[in-house]
This record gives sequence, C-alpha cells and structure tokens, in this order.
Amino acid sequence: MAGFDAARALAQYDPGKLTIATVCSHSSLQIFHGARREGFRTLGICKGKPPRYYDAFPLGKPDAFFPVHEYADLLDHAEELRARNVVIIPHGSFVEYMGTDNYEKLQVPTYGNRHVLPWESDRVRSRQWLVGAGIRMPEVIEDPKDINRPCIVKYMGAKGGRGFFIARNYEEFKKRIDSTAKYHIQEFVLGTRYYIHYFHSPLTGDGYTLPGGGSLQMLGVDRRDESIIDEAHRLGSIYELEEMGIQPSFVVTGNFPLVMRESLLGEALDMGARVVAKAEELFGGLWGPFCLETVITDKLQFKVFEISARIVAGTNPYITGSPYSDLIAPELSTGRRIAQELALATKLGALGRVCT
Ligand code: AMP
Repeated sequence: MAGFDAARALAQYDPGKLTIATVCSHSSLQIFHGARREGFRTLGICKGKPPRYYDAFPLGKPDAFFPVHEYADLLDHAEELRARNVVIIPHGSFVEYMGTDNYEKLQVPTYGNRHVLPWESDRVRSRQWLVGAGIRMPEVIEDPKDINRPCIVKYMGAKGGRGFFIARNYEEFKKRIDSTAKYHIQEFVLGTRYYIHYFHSPLTGDGYTLPGGGSLQMLGVDRRDESIIDEAHRLGSIYELEEMGIQPSFVVTGNFPLVMRESLLGEALDMGARVVAKAEELFGGLWGPFCLETVITDKLQFKVFEISARIVAGTNPYITGSPYSDLIAPELSTGRRIAQELALATKLGALGRVCT
C-alpha cells in the first residue's frame, strides 16, 4: 500500500459509476449478487478464461470479466481499474492468490482496512490483538515437550488447515511433525465450533452502537465442513485411522448454516465490539465484514482460535438472508451489506473513509 492514497484516487472517480470487483472464487457469487441488487456494476477478476460455472448462476454472474495471466499482474493494471471506477472487495482467496505483499501494494481502492493484514496473518500479533480485547483463546504450548493433552499443531501459512494434526504427547508430535515447516501448537479445545459473521459500519449510528462510533451487526453463523476430520469417525476413532495409515486433515470443503443458543448472543456481540475497539487502538480500525472463529465449550464459554478480517465463505449459505440478518432487513447477505455500505459511503462522500 506504500504511498497509495485511496481517498485521493476516489476523488477522481465518477461516484455514479462505481464498479464492484473481486476475484472469481470464494464468495464472489454472493458479492456480485449483492452488488447487483444495490444497483452496482460488477467486474470478475479471473486467471485465464472466465470460469464457466457463472453461466449456471446468472444472478451471481458479474457484468464483465477482467482476465489476467497471473493475479499479481493486477499490480500493472491498477490505472486501468481505477479508470473503470473499481472498488475491490477482498476475500480470503483474493489475498491468498495475490499474495499478501502484492495485495498490500495494489494501487486500487479496496474496501476495508488493509493495515489489518500484518495483525491478522501473524499468530503472535493476532493473539496480542484478541487477548488485548479481552477475548478468551486456546492455550499456546511453546515447547512440544510440554504436550500433555490433545493439542492441534498448525503449520504457519498453511492453506485451509492442510497438514494440521492432533498430538496427545511429545511422542505423537515427533512422529507427525514436518520439522522443515514453521508450526504453532495450541490446546485442542473440546466443544462445538461457531464461526460468527459480523459487520461493523463506522457510518451508521443506529442498532447496536459502539462507544468508538458506528454500529455492529451480527449477520450469521456457520460451521465449516472439514475433510476428512468431520467424517473420519465413520471409519473409527482417529487413532484407529492412524493404524490404517490415515492422518485426519482439516481441509475446508464447505459450510453449514447454524444458529447459537439465544443466551450466547449478548457475549457474541460484546466480543465483536471489543475486537473492533482494540483494532482502533492498534492499527486504525476494523470495519466491514469480519469473523470470529470460536469453539463453545460445555461450560458455555467461547474460545476464539482465529479471526478473519474480511468476508468469509461461511456467509455463502445466506445469499437470501440468515436467521439473524432476517431480523435486520429482508434478504440481507453479507455481500449485499457491503454494497449497501458503499452506496451509503458514496452518498455521504465518505468512500475515502471506508476504503484503503
Ligand atoms: P484454522 O486454520 O486456525 O482456522 O484451523 C483450521 C481448523 O482446525 C478449524 O476450522 C477447526 O476445525 C480446527 N481448530 C483450529 N484450532 C483449534 C483448536 N484450538 N481447538 C480445536 N479445533 C481447532
């Protein structure tokens, strides 16, 4: 982002012709569908030929495609994208495909705060942020020799949980670890997983207002379906699987819709509010969609093992609304909420406030 002034770039835009663009993957059908419903033009960035699957889902198909040879080539097309009044909506695959360094350098207005990236992608810093916000997190085990209960070993930068494994003691750790890779060990939290989808608007002053300004919405909850851990029990316990030479993996293949006990909603919203407040203190704020990935224990305590600071694919079951967003507005997806925010920002002359 070095030297890029999004507000200045946006001052050159024709506000009536804003184009919402994202990479064709992840939650793009939802983002394009939501943008279209709010009257925006849409642009699908793709590597090579436009994917054919959009033809099967016409209401989620972008108005036009922007094919590139490599995603990193977008850096060279920044001027052209700006000339087309493009605002980029980042999602997890967008950042992964471009690479965080390139994404940070992209000289095109991007919805959300790009300064969050170093805080989100580094496990030490994200813990500092979340624990600093008073969030309960799984215990970290610094020395593998101290593993004395089920722990999850995660590889740094591993995509979609690939290669993660569970170890109950040092012996199991030694047997499974790839010592050429950087890893991180956490207690394996027993409970049920809830991935909570929030939306923070600094521009609105109604609903669940925040002390630092703006308001917070909870638009939905999902659970990821992870292959093969989530169905591994069909063959036996994970230890029996190991005898068969099978290591359970945590690769996300899809998402389930979910609701949580109503008595937990107060804390869920409070956690979101505290994470936003701490982000303001640490790196200038967190706005737009974000997700806390939690386990709820049988003591009804949340433990948050990760944060995603942009739209998550777990919002995809709710293209026409969720049991929570239905209580805010009809047919409100996260993709549509993003488009509404950009429409409001345009009306208020505040696009430079919500894009970086
Ligand atoms: P992550 O890359 O941190 O999102 O982890 C991938 C998957 O591993 C999650 O979706 C969970 O199913 C599982 N997981 C991660 N951390 C923990 C934990 N501390 N306890 C239990 N399961 C976890």
